[in-house]
Amino acid sequence: MKYFIDHLEKRIHLRQFAGDACGFIDTPIEKREFSDEEDYFTQLVVEESYTICAHCRS
Ligand SMILES: [Zn+2]
Repeated sequence: MKYFIDHLEKRIHLRQFAGDACGFIDTPIEKREFSDEEDYFTQLVVEESYTICAHCRS
């Protein structure tokens, strides 16, 4: 899985880099999703205004 999607914070993490600094600890399991799909990722960012986690991007 490439993407870790936090639907509570509307934030997308990169599975490879996601860690404690990302702040998803408080997000309940049912609001978390894992995906490999580039189309889904793009849709969330472009249409749903999800942001890419700064910790995972650096
Ligand atoms: Zn992150």
